[in-house]
Amino acid sequence: MIKINDNFCELPASYLFSDVAKRINAFKAEHPDVEIIKMGIGDVTQPICPAAIQAMENAVADQADRVTFHGYGPEQGYDFLRRRIVDVDYRSRNIDIDIDEIFISDGAKSDTGNIGDILSTDCKVAVTDPVYPVYVDTNVMAGRAGHLVDGRWSRIEYLPCTAENGFIPSLPKDNPDVIYLCYPNNPTGTTLNRSQLEKWVEYAKDNNALILFDSAYEAYITEPDIPHSIYEIPGAKEVAIEFRSFSKTAGFTGLRCGYTVVPKELKGLSKNGDEVSLNALWNRRQCTKFNGASYIVQRAAEALYSTKGRHQVKETIAYYMRNASLLRNGLSAAGLEVWGGVNAPYIWVKTPGGLSSWEFFDLLLEKCGIAGTPGVGFGPSGEGYFRLTAFGRYEDTVAAVERLSSLKLNK
Ligand code: PLP
Repeated sequence: MIKINDNFCELPASYLFSDVAKRINAFKAEHPDVEIIKMGIGDVTQPICPAAIQAMENAVADQADRVTFHGYGPEQGYDFLRRRIVDVDYRSRNIDIDIDEIFISDGAKSDTGNIGDILSTDCKVAVTDPVYPVYVDTNVMAGRAGHLVDGRWSRIEYLPCTAENGFIPSLPKDNPDVIYLCYPNNPTGTTLNRSQLEKWVEYAKDNNALILFDSAYEAYITEPDIPHSIYEIPGAKEVAIEFRSFSKTAGFTGLRCGYTVVPKELKGLSKNGDEVSLNALWNRRQCTKFNGASYIVQRAAEALYSTKGRHQVKETIAYYMRNASLLRNGLSAAGLEVWGGVNAPYIWVKTPGGLSSWEFFDLLLEKCGIAGTPGVGFGPSGEGYFRLTAFGRYEDTVAAVERLSSLKLNK
């Protein structure tokens, strides 16, 4: 028989969302009349904006005509989109990013998962805890994580983010080579302000670490002191790769498009002691394993940067953030402690009365017919917390808040 990558055997099966579904189904069977409001999985509910739909219709027509037909595109993405990204996402914020530093992809999950291809399997990794599980699991697959002991991987450094430290992770102690940061954060909805992020860039410079900065929720930032890009911090181009996604910005979860910025300043060390450009390595990796995001989808992404597109995207984000604010207020009024929901579409709730994440899941389902996500599913420091998303429909969010008002809690 074929030998397999044994690292996959180290990974425990992921039961989080299937366990959630099982409990919801059992509840439904017992209470067929209750309309369950699902606020768990982080998918969006609002349609793609008209500007992007129109662009896709035009692109479909292009594909129907021999003159305008597009076959394989550049692996790095079309310049029409990369140029818009450079101008609107970076140059307008006085950040100098070269078009060759932008790599269009089919989303941030692939890129945050694949970036390890260009890094040594010896690299030590640090993650904030709780965390988007892709960062951890892909390092397990690559053999960087060691063994699972009491819910923690032996070779991964966990940086707890809890109410006790205001969800601001401490700098690492184990000298990691690679640090994953995700801000605005999934699942906690919290952020780092400029001076907090500066400390990380300084740390990475002083300790030769690489920061993998996931800003999939950048479009939800409302407060002025929160950086939209790590490259707003001087020197970050020497230490950080940034990942962006159109999924939550513009409802592209089903269309699939995102991009990654790999600055040319970033250098790695080969085993022969040579300095190698990470941009060149990522380019090589993409050209070998990826044939580019689809032309139609890249035209849709381009349209998000038009005047109309930008306006329409803002409207949808405002719709979700109205939900977020309703939810925050409703949960607080029910006597719960909440974070997030100001610069992110996620609300992070402290479970009341010392309940575990799963006990609170059951309570909220039984008392209110609301299904969220147990915080412990995102890492050990998520125990005792719970995630609700603002991506639902407004009417459902209003109904959820109404139901929450009847919740009697023993804190
Ligand atoms: N990064 C974070 C932090 C996310 O929460 C998600 C999706 O939930 C992604 C990346 C994936 O984004 P995409 O849809 O672009 O693959």
